[in-house]
Amino acid sequence: MEKKHYERPHIIKLETGMPGKFGMRNDSPPTTHIDGVAVKELVAGYGSPLFVISESTTRSVYRKAYKAFSTRYPKVQFAWSYKTNYLSAVCNIFHQEGSWAEVVSGFEYDKAVANGVDPAKIIFNGPGKSTEDLRKAAENGSLIHIDHLDELYTLTDLTGELTRKPLVAIRVNMDTGIYPMWDRFGFNYENGQAWDAINKIMMSGKLELVGLHTHIGTFIMSAGAYGIAASKLADLALGIKQKFNHDIRYIDMGGGFTSKNTLKGSYLPGSDTNPSFDDYAEAITSALVNSGFKPDNLPLLILETGRALIDEAGYIITTVIANKRLSTGRRATIIDAGVNLLFTSFWYQHPVTPAQGFSQYREENALYGPLCMNIDCVRDSITLPLLNKGEQLVIHYTGAYNLTQWMQFITLRPKVVLIDQDSKTHIIRESESVTSVSGFEKTPDYLNIIK
Ligand SMILES: *Cc1c(COP(=O)(O)O)cnc(C)c1O
Repeated sequence: MEKKHYERPHIIKLETGMPGKFGMRNDSPPTTHIDGVAVKELVAGYGSPLFVISESTTRSVYRKAYKAFSTRYPKVQFAWSYKTNYLSAVCNIFHQEGSWAEVVSGFEYDKAVANGVDPAKIIFNGPGKSTEDLRKAAENGSLIHIDHLDELYTLTDLTGELTRKPLVAIRVNMDTGIYPMWDRFGFNYENGQAWDAINKIMMSGKLELVGLHTHIGTFIMSAGAYGIAASKLADLALGIKQKFNHDIRYIDMGGGFTSKNTLKGSYLPGSDTNPSFDDYAEAITSALVNSGFKPDNLPLLILETGRALIDEAGYIITTVIANKRLSTGRRATIIDAGVNLLFTSFWYQHPVTPAQGFSQYREENALYGPLCMNIDCVRDSITLPLLNKGEQLVIHYTGAYNLTQWMQFITLRPKVVLIDQDSKTHIIRESESVTSVSGFEKTPDYLNIIK
C-alpha cells in the first residue's frame, strides 16, 4: 500500500469564502503526470526546477488553430513567431506542421535559416533591422516587412547593389478600438502614413510590394478588433489595385491571440472568458470575404500567432524550498522557480497545481521564488493545500515568452525537456553551468591575482 501523504498539524480560521458566479470554488486535482510521465520521475531524472514542453499539446493546439481558419478561408498560412519560443525543437515542430518563420531580429533570422527554413518562407518584421540584415534578407528573397520610412529609404538605396528586387510589405498600425493603441510600429492607417508609404514604394518601382501586415497588440481579448483590422488592410489592398492595378499576394494579420492564461486582476479565469480560435477566425475571415476581393484573386491570409499556440504546452516543475509566516500571519511558500524563469508572472496568474495528492485543507498563500529580490513573486495570493518542503508544484501555461525572456540572475537556467508523442523524454536545452556562463567573461591579467 502506498504511504499516505503527511500533513503537519495545522489550525486555521474557517473561511468558506464567497461563491463565484458559477457556485463554490472547485479545486483542480493534482498534476501527478504530464503526458503520461510522472512528475516525480522527471524531477529525479532532470532536476528541479524543470521546464517541460508537450509535443502532443503543441501539435494539437496548432491543428485546432489551422482548422479554425482553413475551414473558413481557402488560403491560410501560419508563420511561427520566433520570439515567443525559439528553442529549435519547438520551432521545428511548427515547421513540420507547415508553418513558415516570423522573425524580428538578425539573430532570429539566422536561427530560422540554420533550422532549415526556406528563406522565401521567412517573414522579417521589427523596427531594428540593420543594413546588413536588409541586404541578406533581400538577396535571399525573404519577405521584408518595412516598419518606418528610414528603413524604406535604406532598402531602396541598397537596390543599386542587389541582384534581385526586394520583396516587401508594410506594417500598418490602426485604431481597432484597443487602447492604448500600438502606434509605435509601422505606418498609421487613419492619418494617411500607410497610404503614403504604399505610394512611395509603388512610384519608386525598386521594391516589389507583395503584402500588407499588421500586429495590433498581444493578448487581445476582443476578436472584433481583428475584424476591423482586416477590413482596413483589405481597404488598402483594394486602393492599390485601383490606383496601380497591382495585386498584393497576402494579408498578414500578425499575432496577439490570447492563450488560456488569466490576466492579473481578472474576475473570471481566462480559460472561460478568452476568445477561441474560432472567434478570431470568424472575425478575420468574414471581414476578408465580405470585402471587395474578387473570388479568383483572394490574398493569402497569414497568421503570426505565437502565445496562443505554445503557452498551453509549457510547464514548469518546481520544488518547495520552505514554508514561512509573514508578519501578518499569512502563509508564504518559497519555491525554486521565480520570475527569473517565469517572466510572464508579472502579467498573468498562471495556474499552479500540486504534483502529489492532498486532503481537503487549504490555505491562502503567497508564492515566492528563490531570488533575493522583493519583486520575485509568482502568485500574490493563491489558495493551495498544505505543502511540505521537497514536494513539487506544477505551473501551467508557461510555454510562451518565458524561454526567450528568462534571466540568468544569480542562478543558472535549468534543463528544458520535451515529452514526445510516445511519452519519451528528450533534453532540448541543457542546464547552464558556471563555466557556460563565466566562459564569455574576460578578466584582465592584473585582476586575476587576489592577494
Ligand atoms: C510578437 C509578435 C507576434 C506574436 O505575438 P503573440 O502575441 O505571441 O501571438 C507576431 N507578429 C509580430 C510582428 C510580433 O512582434
